[in-house]
This record gives sequence, C-alpha cells and structure tokens, in this order.
Amino acid sequence: MKQHHLLLLGILFLISPQCISQDNQSIYSSKQTYDWAWMYLRGDVKDKKLEKQFQLIKDSGIDGLLILLRGEPMEEFAHKVKIAKKVGLSVHVWIPTTKIHGGRNLEKEHPEWFQVSRESISCLEKPPYIPSYKWLCPNREGAREYLIEEMRSLAKMEFLDGVHLDYIRFPDVILPVGIQPKYDLNQDKEYPEFDFCYCDVCREKFKQEHGIDPMDIEDPANNKDWVEFRYNSITNLVNDIYDVVHAEGKMLSAAVFPTPKLAKQLVRQDWVNWKIDALMPMIYHEYYFEPLSWVGQAAKEGVDALNGKIPFYSGIFTVWIDAEEMDDVVEYSKQAGAQGICLFNANKMSKKQWKELGKALNKQ
Ligand SMILES: [Zn+2]
Repeated sequence: MKQHHLLLLGILFLISPQCISQDNQSIYSSKQTYDWAWMYLRGDVKDKKLEKQFQLIKDSGIDGLLILLRGEPMEEFAHKVKIAKKVGLSVHVWIPTTKIHGGRNLEKEHPEWFQVSRESISCLEKPPYIPSYKWLCPNREGAREYLIEEMRSLAKMEFLDGVHLDYIRFPDVILPVGIQPKYDLNQDKEYPEFDFCYCDVCREKFKQEHGIDPMDIEDPANNKDWVEFRYNSITNLVNDIYDVVHAEGKMLSAAVFPTPKLAKQLVRQDWVNWKIDALMPMIYHEYYFEPLSWVGQAAKEGVDALNGKIPFYSGIFTVWIDAEEMDDVVEYSKQAGAQGICLFNANKMSKKQWKELGKALNKQ
C-alpha cells in the first residue's frame, strides 16, 4: 500500500510540469496581458443563459475567471465550470482560506482550531465585526493540514486550471478606513478585541522562538518579532499550499489587500514574499476614501515591490466605476505596470460597462 502511494507521488512529480497547460503558461509571461474577473454562479441559472454570459465575458476581453465555490455539490460546480472552459475561459476555483465558509463544518468538530484575540476570547465566541468572521489559526497543525488537503483536493479536479485563495490572512486588526464608519468605529490603533491570534499554540510557538509570551508584550503593535511572526504564519501556509497545488500541475493565485503596506498593516499579509503564480490585490478605492486614479498609484506600489517576481492584476470594484471610466481604470493599471485587471465582479457589470471594457481591453 505504502509503495503504491510513493509511486503515485513520484508520477505526479514527474508529470507535473507538463500538466500546466499552454493557457496557464501564458500567464507566467509578464509581456502578455491577461485579464480576470471574480464571479458567483447562481444555482438556478440555465446552461444556455450561462453560456451566453460566459461568451459576453470572453468577448469583452476577459481571459480567466475566479469562480466562487459555495459548498454546492461538486458535480454541479464542475458542470458550470466546463461551460466556461468551452467558450475559452480559464478557471480558478475561488475559495475562502483561513476564514470559514459554507462547505466546512469545523466550528463544532474543532473549536480549538479557531483564532483567539488578545482578550483571550475565541473568535467563535466573539467574532470581530460580523457573525461570520470566524477564522482558523494558521499555526494549528490540524487546521493547517485541513486547509492544505482541501486545496490539494481542489487542485486535483481536472476541469480547473488553478486554485484562488481568498481570506488568506488574519482578521482585520484595523478595518479599511472607508469601512470603519459602517461599524461605528474609529480604529486609530490596534485594539485587543481585533488583535489575533493569541491561542495556546501561537503563544507557545512564539515563546520558543523569542523567549517571551506574546501576552506579555507591552506594545504588541510595534513589536517587530511578534508582527513578523504573524506575517510568516500566513506566508508559510501559502507556500505549503503552493507546493501541493503545483504537484497537481495547477496554478495558485490569491485575492489580497491593495498595497504591500496596507496588507501588512491591516491583515498581516506579506504577499510580496509569497510563493504564488498570480496576485489580484483588491484595489477598491472607496474603501480607502480614494479617487479612481488611486488604482494606478496602489498598483504601482505593488508592481514595484514585486519587481517582476509575481504577475500582478489590479482588482477593481466595478460598482463604483462608470462605463465611461472603464478606459481610464484599464489605463491606470497598465501605466503602473500591471499585467492586467481583475473585475469585482462579473455579476454586477452592466451591458454598457462590458461594452466599454471591451473597447478598453481591445482584444478583438
Ligand atoms: Zn493561534
């Protein structure tokens, strides 16, 4: 049995480079533009209608879709993804990572896997901001293995080109400034109820490495070791997921916070140092009280920091962008050196927006 297992692993390693299709290879090339969109699938949509929708997306210049898996049966999801593939779109499955999602049922089975705040309260008991803000600890061995296996099993699906990680981070220790008023908050610094993870495993691991219990750190927001420990907790998880996804010959991409600085500051994502094939930073300007031109500034920060290491696709929030502004936003992103854009989201685009986007991307 064990021998079979090893043989299988050997074969996978041997064939994995060839498994990456031509379509995927092109994404590695920084010279070629490539454009994406996040998309939700409606359960009741008919095949014909869905095909028409995918065709419109493709005809407008989008090359790849990031399609959310919401815990529906895999056959149903596969059937719909195959329609997108038929019209020539590449597809990554879009899935929340450290944050819970509908397809999992871990709260009852493994409450100990969930993150704990500096107030020593589990996010299961007191989720920050919203009831669904329940987060797995990236340092809990069981939770890590669970996530790695989940991504491996998705990467094995032959109809998918890749896995797209969302919520691959800590909960926001500070919310984007444009969202804070919604929760009646003014987060001028890190507050204990939003500061994670202080579970026993994290505390012990940090103590072993640095000789102090993080609970005893007086100014945790400015303790370099403790801050970096949490960046690394996420980076290590991403890197392990990358290895299993690549062993299946698939790509790994992720939705991340808009700039390297904000990503570290708000959610402890050090995405410049991840092993990953593509990054889609969510440059949602109004969440930061910024004008549309900020898409270019933020993209430039990211592109410069990556220095050609990882392809960068500017995530844009289409609800705030008029059809007439589509050309501007594509131009801001291009000027910054991004490989393309990523629409949030394909479901919310008007006919006029698609038309203008098509002109701006100019691929026909
Ligand atoms: Zn922890």
